[in-house]
Amino acid sequence: MTATLERPVSTETSVLDDARAQLAQAVGVLGLSPDVHAMLAEPRREVSVSIPLRRDDGSVEVLRGYRVQHNYSRGPGKGGVRFDARVDLDEVRALAMWMTWKCALLDVPYGGAKGGVRVDPRGYSTAELERITRRYTSEIAPLIGPNQDIPAPDVGTDEQTMAWMMDTYSVGRGHTVLGVVTGKPISVGGSQGRAGSTSRGVVAVAVEALRHVGIDPEGATAAVQGFGKVGRGAARFLAREGVRVLAVSDVNGAVHHPDGLDVEALEAHVDATGSVVGFPGGTPVESDEVLTADVDLIVPAAVEGVIHAGNAARVRARVVAEGANGPVTTAADEVLAANGVLVVPDILANAGGVVVSYFEWVQANQSYWWSEAEVDERLVERMIRAWNDVLAYATDNQLSLRLAATCMAVERVYRAHEVRGLYP
Ligand code: GLU
Repeated sequence: MTATLERPVSTETSVLDDARAQLAQAVGVLGLSPDVHAMLAEPRREVSVSIPLRRDDGSVEVLRGYRVQHNYSRGPGKGGVRFDARVDLDEVRALAMWMTWKCALLDVPYGGAKGGVRVDPRGYSTAELERITRRYTSEIAPLIGPNQDIPAPDVGTDEQTMAWMMDTYSVGRGHTVLGVVTGKPISVGGSQGRAGSTSRGVVAVAVEALRHVGIDPEGATAAVQGFGKVGRGAARFLAREGVRVLAVSDVNGAVHHPDGLDVEALEAHVDATGSVVGFPGGTPVESDEVLTADVDLIVPAAVEGVIHAGNAARVRARVVAEGANGPVTTAADEVLAANGVLVVPDILANAGGVVVSYFEWVQANQSYWWSEAEVDERLVERMIRAWNDVLAYATDNQLSLRLAATCMAVERVYRAHEVRGLYP
């Protein structure tokens, strides 16, 4: 594993500190009371579960999993499930809080939730991953459901994971419940366009952001950190917009080409070898260099905390579009702002995934399926509307895009809470 994709040692605060600092700033701008602040800072419900796994060799290993429901004032909990060696309760709490704001900002009728299992999926067979998924699902089954809390893929999980989750939940209920998870395979109620939706949304707003800072996307340059579910699609859609993708990295290394990588050929190379490393159409570079490359746009699309106080001053791009959740720390946000770097925050930039998750859930609930073109049109329309709204709010109130987006989201959640009233 390369240094870039690991949580950096110089991280000045935890992700939960960052999420809470963002909430505190928004509460300050909105003038909300300390009582409301305290309620929004705390997860409504959280569960920690033990997952005994029988390994293929017959031994038993006990893993730890979590599901946190941060808020459900606006609707059922919604958010991904992460399989990663770095998962802990505080990380899941932060990610759940960000889901609440993301859903509110994009005006999808959900609260925020997140789950995770502390495991490095690369060390386990497919059969073992299926057993982990099924046991985790059965442990959190009392909490989830199409009207309660709807999981989806995240780091280390995919549509196969969702199919196992849906099946496990359904077997327990005695009938098939398609709406319990999103991000499923098309054959079991997945939506057209869900697989590329996060990337599609990232690129839709990144292109708007480039135009906003006076850069024509056609011929602009970009670097993408991470070549998984989000980064790979982002590179592809950027190339389709005419943006030259000069550098990309994955967990194994990075490649660079001064005129732009042939993204289609790179994807074929990754399909054949499993990594961007060794791609003949580029030269190998240090993974860290991707974030500080001399480009117009960077898309950090891996994990949290990769742009931090230690490297933020070396970012040369004009725009950072957060494909990952929480890739820029609070301290780095300040450095980037001082240097005139526009950060398009995660809760806006990567919201395309949960928007199409919402479309998938709507389709499952109605048993009526939309074409890929319909999904795409509705996704892009929502992303651009959210971009315009956040930009207007930020401009009117002299705020960063992150603070503007967080304020808009927190206010919506607060309004829902206020009109429902405090029970009892
Ligand atoms: N894991 C994705 C995210 O962080 C998608 C969540 C969802 O679709 O519920 O936004």
